[in-house]
Amino acid sequence: MTPQRAKAEITALRDELNEHNYRYYVLDSPSISDKEFDDMLARLAELEKQYPEFSDPDSPTQRVGGQVTKIFDTVTHRTRMYSLDNTYSRDELADFDARVRKGLGEGENVEYVLELKYDGASVSLTYENGRLTRAETRGDGIKGDDITANARTIKSIPLKLKGDYPARFDIRGEIILPVSRFEQINNQREIDGEPLYANPRNLASGTLKLQDSAEVASRGLDCLLYYVVEDEVTIPTQYECLQKARQWGFKVPQQSSLARSMDDIYAYIDYWDHARYDLPYQTDGIVVKVNDKSQQARLGYTAKSPRWAVAYKFTAEREPTVLESISYQVGRTGNITPVANLRPVLLAGTTVQRATLHNADQIQKLDVRIGDTVFVEKGGEIIPKIVGIDLEKRPDGTLPVKYIEKCPECGTPLVRPEGEANHYCPNEDHCPPQIKGRIEHFASRKAMDIESLGQQNVSLLVDKGLIKDYADLYTLGFDDLNGLEQVSDEGQKRSFQKRSAQRLLEAIEASKKIPFEKVLFAIGIRYVGDTTAKKIARYFGTMDAIMSASAEELMAVDEVGDRIAESIVKFFSDPQHRQTVERLKSYGVQMSLGEGSGVKSDVLAGKSFVVSGKFGISRDELKEMIEQHGGRNVSAVSASTNYILAGEAMGPAKAKKAESLGIKIISEQEFYKMLDAGPRGDANGNTAGNAAGVQGKLF
Ligand code: ZN
Repeated sequence: MTPQRAKAEITALRDELNEHNYRYYVLDSPSISDKEFDDMLARLAELEKQYPEFSDPDSPTQRVGGQVTKIFDTVTHRTRMYSLDNTYSRDELADFDARVRKGLGEGENVEYVLELKYDGASVSLTYENGRLTRAETRGDGIKGDDITANARTIKSIPLKLKGDYPARFDIRGEIILPVSRFEQINNQREIDGEPLYANPRNLASGTLKLQDSAEVASRGLDCLLYYVVEDEVTIPTQYECLQKARQWGFKVPQQSSLARSMDDIYAYIDYWDHARYDLPYQTDGIVVKVNDKSQQARLGYTAKSPRWAVAYKFTAEREPTVLESISYQVGRTGNITPVANLRPVLLAGTTVQRATLHNADQIQKLDVRIGDTVFVEKGGEIIPKIVGIDLEKRPDGTLPVKYIEKCPECGTPLVRPEGEANHYCPNEDHCPPQIKGRIEHFASRKAMDIESLGQQNVSLLVDKGLIKDYADLYTLGFDDLNGLEQVSDEGQKRSFQKRSAQRLLEAIEASKKIPFEKVLFAIGIRYVGDTTAKKIARYFGTMDAIMSASAEELMAVDEVGDRIAESIVKFFSDPQHRQTVERLKSYGVQMSLGEGSGVKSDVLAGKSFVVSGKFGISRDELKEMIEQHGGRNVSAVSASTNYILAGEAMGPAKAKKAESLGIKIISEQEFYKMLDAGPRGDANGNTAGNAAGVQGKLF
């Protein structure tokens, strides 16, 4: 293919993918299948890799992230981000209306725009000539953090606009996490034995400040826009701004409405106070804005908020019900959660019969007792909580709740680490929910991918005494499984018939081929996620090397800090863990990088690299190439670093340090030459992997 034809195809693919992205994420009405979309995206990525001269940061392929922001720069907003005054009653809203009318003068017509108030993290986006140039958090309203790299991964934020947009403008809105995504993420965390997130809002704002934009991309954030800030006002009303922004490609909620009287406003509140539970996002109130921009300008601002807009917060729904009993759940890391079992009550559109009591302190603080009539609330939190007690209804003869002292699952005395609110069961190795949790993690998709071993089957195998840890999986035989059955406390029957027994054994056998880096993730070392495991596996090459590495040696790995390094050392200092790993090895589980691990040559063996600056391809792709050819990525320049692979705009501090240590600085082109010096890959004369494709175009 000629470069001209490649360029034409790249442009066409980008336009088409942008349109499908828009249809899928903004309009919520896709016109092609996910598979078709993925195929087109893969084709584009392939072309961009072959022709890096046509790379573009606004390409749909860049939506997956990969850029790492170590420190978020503080930037001054082009115009201040005011916050809204809150009102909590209709009287307060009527006061607002009276102030507006007084401010504008008697007899002037006032029209309001009503919008829902989404519960997320405020953001300001700057567009210049139709392209996203900056995304900022609210911060203190005057200055915020530059989160552009992360915002670019949010698919409903357009990178290129359509239609008749102003040459330069800011647009403001809310970054939110849909409730369904929030629940998915928490379910996965439960499986991984990690603490759950409290609510979508905190998770959304925390996600915006993650260093790795690829991680941000995977979270599934969404962005709803509601306020256009033009350099000079050309759109006369707020309502028209919303419509314009929608035409430019932004996701602008459809629920906005015009109001001419207080009755219109009250009707909107009455409707959404209930209908909000059917929305995919959380909303905690409505916003009332004066529609006319010239009226807005005349009303102006107080020290912190506009005089032409106000928020009204829905009252959190709260219902009384009876606390029937308290049960205690043991999490996968041994943490104990007290749960209130309630007489069923309808709250915020769902029947609630359980509420969290958080921990012993919370129970003591509330002094909640069995038989009490309690008030249950479901506010910004997804999990209902008890917020108070109707003491007048307390039955005679109740006693304060005595918190359990022993694990309800295994009877081990609980511990409460100093400075922590939670109790834990310390019996890691023999407490059933903890054992089951580790095995579920081992078998999960990103780990050993033993598909037919779900939560139910793990429970069955552990309860029947067939397995005590994940290494035992490899000792199971057909006769152990065939006909095995159990009836759960809830009356559910779990069993293994001939077919399912065979299928599980096949899946366990197949897991012996799972690459080493996933094995390292699967064994469940605290803080070692799948990406970290991959980096460590590539760096050390074998489990033996990792088991004998010191914390200091581990910290030489790119992006491994002291917390992770110490956790790994601690894990392997336990003889039982070492023994379990030895057993896995004896059963044939992968304990070193081998076939299928993506290694293409060893031309860079023993060489360490620091990658710094901007390149024709992404830094992550370069790092991947270094590892594929046997080299190591290290995070900081030290005397033992062999090369600095320097792109455009490499930091001057790094260059100076490299010079003083006498480390060789090489360019992207020189790097490709190093790869080319290695043994030839296949019969087509392709040098190991991607290098040839890129290199061919550069020289
Ligand atoms: Zn226990």
